[in-house]
Amino acid sequence: MKTIGLLGGMSWESTELYYRLINEKVKSELGGLNSAKIAMVSVNFSEIEALQLSGQWQQAGETLAIAAKQVQAAGADFLVLCTNTMHKIMPQIQQAINIPVLHLADSTAETVKAQNIETIGLLGTQFTMEQDFYKGRLQDMHGLNVVVPEAADRATIHRIIYDELCLGKVRDESRQAYLEIMDKMVQQGAQGIIEGCTEIVLLVKQQHTGIPLFDTTAIHAGEAVRRALS
Ligand code: GLU
Repeated sequence: MKTIGLLGGMSWESTELYYRLINEKVKSELGGLNSAKIAMVSVNFSEIEALQLSGQWQQAGETLAIAAKQVQAAGADFLVLCTNTMHKIMPQIQQAINIPVLHLADSTAETVKAQNIETIGLLGTQFTMEQDFYKGRLQDMHGLNVVVPEAADRATIHRIIYDELCLGKVRDESRQAYLEIMDKMVQQGAQGIIEGCTEIVLLVKQQHTGIPLFDTTAIHAGEAVRRALS
């Protein structure tokens, strides 16, 4: 079994999910007392969020590159960056280490395409919904048509992520707001929705809607286990 490297803490509310999902999958694949080999470094999200807010992505990249080197030094065979948003600076992280980084948008796109979906809705932070490192990658590298909410709805989605979900607050009104925005995206042609922020699944689960959901936390954790056991 290979050792999975986790770079987490962004936020810890979802890193906890990664840890659980990875161990549960290893247990269901191998049985008995089997559990995952994991090397994890968890950063202080308050520091990272401040850098995001002030547009200091280079500095954020340097901070995460140091953490990634620590994960590598702890024996990881590959790295899982436990956030969609910080894939923005994934090239900087990859440059700092010799082990591969599993790109979350790639694993997600493969899962979406396996369901024969061509037009997909994308929810996440404003960075993820608006910028090329994620939305553009789904379109240009994977050939998906990507639908995102209109500006006011993007702001709502983003605010709920930072002010509630990353603080562990799960509110019914916020779930309702997400579900209404998802319905609008379906009217725009989305055949499913990527929950492109690792905390969204804390709020909206498949049981809350008939729209096919793609939970990036579960997809990434599943891909990590496949790699670890291959
Ligand atoms: N966990 C979130 C994501 O998947 C947002 C937190 C962050 O900005 O890293 O994008």
